[in-house]
Amino acid sequence: MTTTASSAPAVKRSIRILEPIRQDGQGAIRITKGNVVEDYKVQTFEAYAGNATGVTLTKKDGTTYDICLSTDPSETTCSCPGATYHKKGGACKHILVLQLLARMERLPLPRPQEGEDSDLVEADCLVGC
Ligand SMILES: [Zn+2]
Repeated sequence: MTTTASSAPAVKRSIRILEPIRQDGQGAIRITKGNVVEDYKVQTFEAYAGNATGVTLTKKDGTTYDICLSTDPSETTCSCPGATYHKKGGACKHILVLQLLARMERLPLPRPQEGEDSDLVEADCLVGC
């Protein structure tokens, strides 16, 4: 192991799925950052818009964060102080973790319903057409 002068020591982050998120939208995850381990209960629910998922993360101490996970990253928000602190375009760890889960298909994301979504004409095409 070599010792290099590093101005910003990398803090290792990891995520672990404690309880897979079930079809009813409930599960549990653990976010580890350095020596800090935080367990969250996960509750997902369908948001008002067809291209977003609402997620509530509840910490053991009862703190809750509400995340709106949209297929449009600029519409993705979190209620935590970190998300407010980060400027537009940045994402807090909750958003990053949930986006990762979504990419791993561990998070049920809403699929656009076919047929009766006439009020969603402005939504972007989800398949990149
Ligand atoms: Zn957050």
